[in-house]
Amino acid sequence: MSASSAPAHPPVFDLIGHTPLMPLRFAAEGLTVWAKAEFLNPSGSIKDRLARCLIEDAEARGLLRPDSIILECSSGNTGISLAMVGAAKGYQVHIAMSDTASIERRHLMHQLGAEVHLFKATKGYATGINLTLELAAREPRYFLPRQFENPINARDHEEGTAVEILEQTGGRVDAFVAGYGTGGTLVGCGRGLRRQCPNVRVFAMEPAEAAMLSGECPCCHLIEGIAGGYVPPLLVGANLDGIVKIASGEAVSMARRLSREFGLLVGTSSGGNVAAALRLARELGPDARVVTVLCDRAERYYSTPLFDH
Ligand code: PMP
Repeated sequence: MSASSAPAHPPVFDLIGHTPLMPLRFAAEGLTVWAKAEFLNPSGSIKDRLARCLIEDAEARGLLRPDSIILECSSGNTGISLAMVGAAKGYQVHIAMSDTASIERRHLMHQLGAEVHLFKATKGYATGINLTLELAAREPRYFLPRQFENPINARDHEEGTAVEILEQTGGRVDAFVAGYGTGGTLVGCGRGLRRQCPNVRVFAMEPAEAAMLSGECPCCHLIEGIAGGYVPPLLVGANLDGIVKIASGEAVSMARRLSREFGLLVGTSSGGNVAAALRLARELGPDARVVTVLCDRAERYYSTPLFDH
């Protein structure tokens, strides 16, 4: 389909957002945390919300032409989501992604018709962002949504995800915790929740092996999609109440526990988020309502340590 003949509102857009918020009762710990099922978005991750918003905003501002090529640096999930939106709206999509991202991510983008430009992972997201700038300097058809700095990223979660959480909790949230890739989920949900719950405490989850927000040097970790060796601009000066460090092994174990004890097939960052939420629930007491997000599906991790058992 070409962009000139594609519908303004493709049917797949109706599947984005409005995800359930579930209480997860951890019997052994005697604690409950609340998890928003973002893996139910149509391409399988929280990033579908953003991809739709970025492209609709670019269209509204006249930045996209039918022959434009959407070009973005992504750990994989934004790439898959943009590929989905591009397919439904008739735009070509090219994604710069680290060569260490799971092969399943690459397959999904190809399946949706996108092209993938791999870069060496050693310097983190900064390498991929520079690659997109170099490619765009040589090809005027490229359009860069710039998810790492685009204010729409946080605003979409502030006006969408956070509003849904407030509706689903009757406006009572004591703490919110999430890992950060671009920081859009954390900053946007934090801002949106504070509007109605001024006392809500907002925490960043980061891998213990790459705790850059905590001022430590980034090292290898297994929580794909977050902490890409770079503190994203959206997080600079963000209003946070604290940081929860989760070791990769803890995130992997919790992701497996979510599958085995709750029947939830989710990825490693979801495990990290729930492990962090559980730690906060323990600290804040059994009456505190701690909310987090289940970011994506387990199926994009077959080739990773999450399935090594
Ligand atoms: N988990 C996974 C699996 C992701 O792909 C991402 C996005 N890279 C995140 C969490 C973090 O989302 P955000 O970019 O909104 O910080």
